[in-house]
Amino acid sequence: MGHRMPKPSPEPIPANDFRALWREIRAAALEAVDRVGKSGWFILGREVEAFEQALAAHWGMRQAVGTANGMDALEIALRAGGLQAGDKVLTTPLSAFASTLAILRAGGRPVFVDVDESGLIDLSLARQAFTADSSLKWFLPVHLYGHCLNLDALASLRDAFGLRVVEDCAQSIGATWGGRICGSVGFAAATSFYPTKNLGAMGDGGALLTNESKIAETARMLRDYGQSAKYQHAEPGLNSRLDEVQAALLHDALLPRLADFTRRRRLIAAFYHRELRHELIDPIHQPEGSGSVFHLYPVLVEQDRDDLLKHLQRLQVHAAIHYPVLIPDQPAMRAAGGEIFGSLHRASRIARREISLPMHPFLTDSQVENVVAACHFWRPDSA
Ligand SMILES: *Cc1c(COP(=O)(O)O)cnc(C)c1O
Repeated sequence: MGHRMPKPSPEPIPANDFRALWREIRAAALEAVDRVGKSGWFILGREVEAFEQALAAHWGMRQAVGTANGMDALEIALRAGGLQAGDKVLTTPLSAFASTLAILRAGGRPVFVDVDESGLIDLSLARQAFTADSSLKWFLPVHLYGHCLNLDALASLRDAFGLRVVEDCAQSIGATWGGRICGSVGFAAATSFYPTKNLGAMGDGGALLTNESKIAETARMLRDYGQSAKYQHAEPGLNSRLDEVQAALLHDALLPRLADFTRRRRLIAAFYHRELRHELIDPIHQPEGSGSVFHLYPVLVEQDRDDLLKHLQRLQVHAAIHYPVLIPDQPAMRAAGGEIFGSLHRASRIARREISLPMHPFLTDSQVENVVAACHFWRPDSA
């Protein structure tokens, strides 16, 4: 992967390439679907169980509970952990809206604190927030962009304040910090199999991970209408089950490839890191100690972000923004009643300046070179 002048590539460089994914997994996927079809059992059967066991083993956690999506896994984790209506939950303003929506749906009250230079929730500011407000006992940190938060600092916060922690690992499956796996500090972690995620299914899906059997048991009840036994509804639960078909696809075709996909993401990130040199484009680096899995490759654009986006679009490079609007600024939050601790100036700056370059395991070397060349070729309008 060397330097070349960019031409608009004859083929667009997509932010994700699900057709390439299909070419890669087709044989295994068809076989998995065939097995489910022949079994005549489509909801909560052997496939979900087998995938849950494989995922838990892969992650190094005792139990996995499949859910309909990542947001539900977060809500179910909070509810299984005993969140009561009105309980405050500290979280990040810079994430998929689903992180906060899960808190609202579980009856919690989100409290936002600013992020650090990497865009992840700032754990020293979080410490200040927990110190200032002793009614704050819940914490939902997000391992954003595929980076892993400092797990020692997270564990020390948990212990110092007796926190109930649910880790949002939707973007960070397999990420580590200091050799420990993300998701292992909280009493539960949640992840998503939304197709764009590092372990993406062919549709929606999610999972809760935990080492506590009581949490897993309650989560299994909550995901299935709150049934403790057939037609016995112990709690008003959700309908949030992972389908047998998705579980079979994940088990046979996707999970076995995750390590390779992650290796490829890391190589691409290393290439961007090494080759991208533009005075107005600064990659957001992985935090010290993080063994990142590069769900995204975010950069900050010092000026004229929209102009760079247009420029990349002209060259058929599909970039995106994560995230243009802070969660507390969303219209849906007006009536929801969140709180903000301190200022959110770093998060706001990232919301104004961030662009995510194409990042997925099917990018070819020459596509990655073209992305870098396209960035190098950019001169902003205002220059
Ligand atoms: C994708 C995502 C979610 C939600 O997952 P879904 O499966 O789409 O519900 C939650 N948090 C983060 C950080 C995400 O990226």
